[in-house]
Amino acid sequence: MLRSVILAASRSSRIERLVETAPLTRDVVRRFVAGSTVDDALRVTTELVTDGLSVSLDYLGEDTETPEQATTTRDEYLRLLSALRAGEMTPAAEVSVKLSALGQRFDEKLALEHARAICVAATEAGTTVTLDAEDHTTTDSTLDILTKLRIDFPTTGAVLQAYLRRTEADCRELATTGSRVRLCKGAYKEPESVAFQSNLDVDKSFVRCLNVLMSGDGYPMMATHDPRLIAIGEDRARWFDRAPDEFEFQLLYGVRPDEQARLAAEGYTVRVYTPFGDQWYAYLMRRLAERPANVAFFARALRSKG
Ligand SMILES: Cc1cc2nc3c(=O)[nH]c(=O)nc-3n(C[C@H](O)[C@H](O)[C@H](O)COP(=O)(O)OP(=O)(O)OC[C@H]3O[C@@H](n4cnc5c(N)ncnc54)[C@H](O)[C@@H]3O)c2cc1C
Repeated sequence: MLRSVILAASRSSRIERLVETAPLTRDVVRRFVAGSTVDDALRVTTELVTDGLSVSLDYLGEDTETPEQATTTRDEYLRLLSALRAGEMTPAAEVSVKLSALGQRFDEKLALEHARAICVAATEAGTTVTLDAEDHTTTDSTLDILTKLRIDFPTTGAVLQAYLRRTEADCRELATTGSRVRLCKGAYKEPESVAFQSNLDVDKSFVRCLNVLMSGDGYPMMATHDPRLIAIGEDRARWFDRAPDEFEFQLLYGVRPDEQARLAAEGYTVRVYTPFGDQWYAYLMRRLAERPANVAFFARALRSKG
């Protein structure tokens, strides 16, 4: 219930203004976001890499409405990739991209063109791009763009969401040699017609999908903070005889840092999804929806608005 309310609020511009101007909001944001600028992203990447972690950087923003905004997003990724290259931070750092930030909702061809430019820059920098998964109305388009990009950039990563009923079949399609697939539970509010609604059903789907990916020929990227699913992931890695460089765990910046360190100390590849930029509102709201404990902190921030 609370999750639905927060996810609905993530699309309200009125609540967005209220949240953005609350004095303590910045403290909450700082927990989950590296900072506003490319320099902030580089600083945090250096810290994480020094701690033995890999990184996927996300320039915040989604659902852009104009070609100008889409071009600005592309250019920020190009600047970021060139800085990562200059700082010799690749391949430890890659980038995650939301196609809706590149214009997918109003011009799919434009989004593909921009994503292609980002893939060219990533290849030149010696690293990879992963296409984030957004709400289910974009899934077909995103997988179609992925297929087109993989012709020239076969390491482009996909993201599949276990809460979608279709995902087990998508896992079978994508569990092919060299195919990088991030499996996550899914962060959007989705209708019952397309998505499992109970936590148990989502978790069961996650395990079925994980079995398909771990037993397949691709490169699974297991994105969860869930202790039970992480334990199952460790078990499947042993069962399917996957070496530490044949799959990875992924967690979000600021979430369970002790667990990130523990997994890295065990010898696993651990990638920290690290967002930066000013457009943090929708991202923050999804994080709050996942973790009721953060909501109390956040409510205090709102109440203190003078
Ligand atoms: C690297 C990465 C990339 C992602 N990319 C996408 C994407 O492209 N598209 C998309 O829709 N979603 C994405 N997500 C979000 C994902 O879909 C989930 O919404 C999010 O990860 C929460 O689900 P969970 O698996 O962590 O478990 P949850 O069901 O949120 O939590 C399960 C358990 O994990 C533990 N836990 C969770 N959070 C915390 C915390 N903050 N502190 C302590 N314990 C905690 C608790 O024990 C909790 O009961 C991504 C997630 C990660 C980690």
